[in-house]
Amino acid sequence: MKSPDEHSGMQQSARLFERASAVIPGGVNSPVRAFGAVGGVPRFIREARGCWLFDADGNRYVDLVCSWGPMILGHAHPAVVEAVREAAVKGLSFGAPTEAEVELAEEIVQRVAPVDRVRLVNSGTEATMSAVRLARGYTGRAKIIKFAGCYHGHVDSLLAHAGSGVATFALPTSPGVTGAQAGDTIVLPYNDLEAVHQAFAAHPGEIAAVITEAAVGNMGAVAPLPGFNDGLQRACSENGALLIMDEVMTGFRVSEAGWYGLEGVAGDLYTFGKVMSGGLPAAAFGGRADVMEHLAPSGSVYQAGTLSGNPVAVAAGLATLRHATPEVYAALRKNHAALRDLLAEALRTIGISHRVQSAGTMVSVFFTGEPVQNYAQVKTSETWRYPAFFHALLERGVYAPPSAFEAWFVSAALDDEAFAVIADAMPAAARAAADASPPEPVRA
Ligand SMILES: *Cc1c(COP(=O)(O)O)cnc(C)c1O
Repeated sequence: MKSPDEHSGMQQSARLFERASAVIPGGVNSPVRAFGAVGGVPRFIREARGCWLFDADGNRYVDLVCSWGPMILGHAHPAVVEAVREAAVKGLSFGAPTEAEVELAEEIVQRVAPVDRVRLVNSGTEATMSAVRLARGYTGRAKIIKFAGCYHGHVDSLLAHAGSGVATFALPTSPGVTGAQAGDTIVLPYNDLEAVHQAFAAHPGEIAAVITEAAVGNMGAVAPLPGFNDGLQRACSENGALLIMDEVMTGFRVSEAGWYGLEGVAGDLYTFGKVMSGGLPAAAFGGRADVMEHLAPSGSVYQAGTLSGNPVAVAAGLATLRHATPEVYAALRKNHAALRDLLAEALRTIGISHRVQSAGTMVSVFFTGEPVQNYAQVKTSETWRYPAFFHALLERGVYAPPSAFEAWFVSAALDDEAFAVIADAMPAAARAAADASPPEPVRA
C-alpha cells in the first residue's frame, strides 16, 4: 500500500512542515492541525475560495472542515472580503468603542432570544473562561459541572476530560493545570441527567454553573438526548446555579439562532465564536441582563481586552451574519444531508459497522454499530479505522477533519462539482476503512 506521504505533490507542504517544526512546537499553532492522529504531512494551505482549499503544492481539496466551523459562506466570500477591506483602510484598532461593535451585538441579541447583553472577546476560549468567572462571581460559588468529551477551549479548569484535540491525543487533562484549578471542576458523563442530580445533591450550594456544548461537536457530533438540555436548565434553576450554553461551534451554524433556534431551551449565559467571527479572531459571551451587568464596568467581575471588538474582526463577523440568510441555512441543511447520505451509503455498501451521526448540520462518522451518546461510547468505537479513511479521502481531493473526534462541517458554497469529487472518493475511502487493521497490542 502506498503510504500517505508518497502521494504526489506534497513536497512544499513537507518542506514547510520541517521548517515550521524548527521554530513552532510541533510545527503548528493548534495541535489537531499537525495530523498527529492520522499520520502524514499536514497540508499547508496557500489560499481558499468558496468550498475549495489550495495547498502549497497546488493540490485542490473540497473543504469539509471550514476552519473548524466559521466559514459557512465559503472562503473569501466577496461581501466579507469587501467589508474587511473597508474596515481595514479606516484603521486597524482604536482602543475605543465603535458603531460596528454595537451592530454586531445587536445582531446577536436579535437572533438569540435569551441573550440580552453580549460582550465581544477574541476567542472561544476567552468567552468560556469569562462566562465561568462571571458565573462564579454572580453566584459566589466555586464549583462547575462539565461533561466528558465536551471541549470549551483550553481554559485551565475546563480541560479535564475534554474533547477535540485533548481527545485526539488521548490526554485525560493537561500538565500545567494545577489540582486547585481542576479541583473545582466536576466532570460527568454527557447525556446523564441522573449524574447531574447526584452532583447537585452531593455539593449543595457549591455549584456555580453547568457548562455544556448546546449540542456536542467536539467528540464528533453527539446531540443531546430529548429532555437533556431542558433537564439541565431545571436542575440549575432549582439549585441556584447558572446554565452556560457553549454555542461556539453550533452558534449561527445549525440555525439562524444556533442550537437554541432548534431546541428552544434557554441558557442563562451563552458563548459564541467561530461563525460570528467570519474567520477573524472574534468571539463573544452573553446572556441575561441581570447576570451580564455584574461585569465591569457596570459590575465588579473584571474582564477586558485590548483588541476586543476589533473593527476588522467585527466587520468580518457582521458581514458573515448579515449574509447568513434563510437561503444560506437551507443550503447548509441540504449540503449536510447530501454529505451524510454519501457517507452512509459508502459505509453501508462496504458492510462495515458504522454510525453516521448528526447534530443539526454537523455530522461525523463513528466506526461502531451502537448509537453514540457520550464520550465513553465514542472511545469504544474503532477509531483506528479513521486514518485510512481520512487519507483515502485526502488523496482524492476531499479534506475531512484530521481526527476521528471532530465533526465535519459543510458550507453553503459546496456545489455539484464538489459533491462529485466527494462521491467519487467515498467508495475507496470506505474500502480503506474496511481494510484497516487494529493497532498491535502494546508489548511489555
Ligand atoms: C472551538 C470551541 C471553543 C474554543 O474556541 P477557540 O476560539 O478555539 O478558543 C470553545 N467551545 C466550543 C464548543 C468550541 O467548539
